Amino acid sequence: MSLENNTTEENKKSLNFIELMVEKDLKEGRNNGRVQTRFPPEPNGYLHIGHAKAIYIDFGIAQKYGGICNLRFDDTNPVKEDVEYVDSIMEDIKWLGFEWANIYYASDYFQQLWDFAIQLIKDGKAYIDEQTADEIAKQKGTPTVPGTHSPFRNRPIQESLELFEKMNTGEIAEGAMVLRAKIDMASSNMHMRDPIIYRIIDIPHHRTGTKWKAYPMYDFAHGQSDFFEGVTHSLCTLEFEVHRPLYDWFLDQLVTGSYRPRQTEFNRLGLTYTVMSKRLLLQLVQEKLVSGWDDPRMVTLSGMRRRGYTSAAIRSFIDKIGYTKYDGINDYSLLEHSVREDLNKHTTRVSGVIDPIKLIITNYPEDKVEEMETINNPEDESMGSRKIKFTRELWIERDDFMENAPRKYFRLTPGNEVRLKSAYIVKCTGFKADEEGNVVEVYAEYDEQTRSGMPESGRKVKGTIHWVSVPHSLDVEVRLYDRLFTVEDPMADKEKSFKDFLNPDSLIVKQNSKVEEYLKDAKPLDSFQFQRIGYFNVDKDSTPEHMVFNRTVALKDSWKKQNS
Ligand code: ATP
Ligand code: MG
Repeated sequence: MSLENNTTEENKKSLNFIELMVEKDLKEGRNNGRVQTRFPPEPNGYLHIGHAKAIYIDFGIAQKYGGICNLRFDDTNPVKEDVEYVDSIMEDIKWLGFEWANIYYASDYFQQLWDFAIQLIKDGKAYIDEQTADEIAKQKGTPTVPGTHSPFRNRPIQESLELFEKMNTGEIAEGAMVLRAKIDMASSNMHMRDPIIYRIIDIPHHRTGTKWKAYPMYDFAHGQSDFFEGVTHSLCTLEFEVHRPLYDWFLDQLVTGSYRPRQTEFNRLGLTYTVMSKRLLLQLVQEKLVSGWDDPRMVTLSGMRRRGYTSAAIRSFIDKIGYTKYDGINDYSLLEHSVREDLNKHTTRVSGVIDPIKLIITNYPEDKVEEMETINNPEDESMGSRKIKFTRELWIERDDFMENAPRKYFRLTPGNEVRLKSAYIVKCTGFKADEEGNVVEVYAEYDEQTRSGMPESGRKVKGTIHWVSVPHSLDVEVRLYDRLFTVEDPMADKEKSFKDFLNPDSLIVKQNSKVEEYLKDAKPLDSFQFQRIGYFNVDKDSTPEHMVFNRTVALKDSWKKQNS
């Protein structure tokens, strides 16, 4: 095999099946070598990380092959849709780093879709059915039993045309009649059994107002919108695979020239310990089980952004799981791993004490203040270093002291030595407890010869703990976020509601945490590593008087340990 062939083979291996398909199409000159995709959200909720997966492939394919990707709001159901959602969707796509070529709305095609429906009726390929939804459902049959024909299936074309007009004028009540495509009631594909293509909805639309009362169904709007826009590759998730014959059937009636869109499906993103559907996320918001669409525990992009997840981390996670033809559920830990990986590279290391207790260095002069050099990020030299103040009174984590410690406890316990990070080795000499036995102060002595950076004293201590100088600390609120659900699949138990599996400890608020004063100018969304604890960012609720930090992710995965 020649070297050239070899490289092509290598290159092919790393392409996913969608890229391979597009390359083949380009080679064959399909649609004149044009690549055009769309991202088609329904504006009925905020985008979640599943949508990010679709966005990466829709926009990514266009970018990679010199084409364009449009944003199309699939706004064919006025009942659930809202402008608030339209705005948030645009913001989230931009945050992921993409720009659409054009913004379209399926509602812009209502006239064209209407005209096409009329054409179908005239061609004897659609009819008005006056049966109730129940009756229609009963006639559908099952995948193995053919359906039965509606008594209205062969009504005169003229009658259907007149009734279709009336469906749109308000003369006919919701649910009284529908327009159905006349395809095949015996098809093995249930979607081909005379699908409903128009129904009456008597609710104003957020863009077209009261102009329309008859609204096209998703299946009738989607492929045709692709066609009107010039989409070449219509990418969607696997649940639409069974809709593809219908997508193609409509196109067969519509296409006259050589251009034709094609639908291709890929696997949906599913994550453990969460629910991934706007409908369910909306319930959490409406029932106030979370603080809103951007609650940091939500799998919405706005929630993840607020929590401190970066778009780079989300992208890297999606790259890792890839695009396939098989649905599966991905481990939430893998997402968290990607978040840590990215934040590790970019965040400044700071000192934050979540649950503070005071450590007094009894042999350290009372008004002495020393400046200790600390490296901002050991992963990135260019981030430099800074000075932190060291004094006689320090805040340390309550966890870092134990009165009666087990043998392998290397932190502070009477008689034991630890290193205070970037400062001295201290030896614990005692503590003070209140009447209930709660430790209120810990005492220690420092050894002047052990200042960090000094020639090695030869003394080795096993533990290093972090600290914040009491007079140089800020009182802050810390929100410790954890997974929203306690089980891997909150939808698995059909007897129960997913809401029965909400994690009662998914948010723990600490009102009395301490951070170094260096953080006083930090702004919402700024991220840091609180050494030894995790990654934290400033919440949008934060004010200069009352700073609020969110735990983005702990330094280590505590769930793995519990579950394995
Ligand atoms: P939901 O069930 O959460 O409402 P949806 O599929 O109804 O999702 P749409 O707004 O209709 O949401 O979807 C826009 C695009 O995003 C579609 O192409 C859809 O296939 C894709 N998408 C939605 N959820 C996921 C997911 N979990 N993984 C990958 N792509 C998704
Ligand atoms: Mg949908």
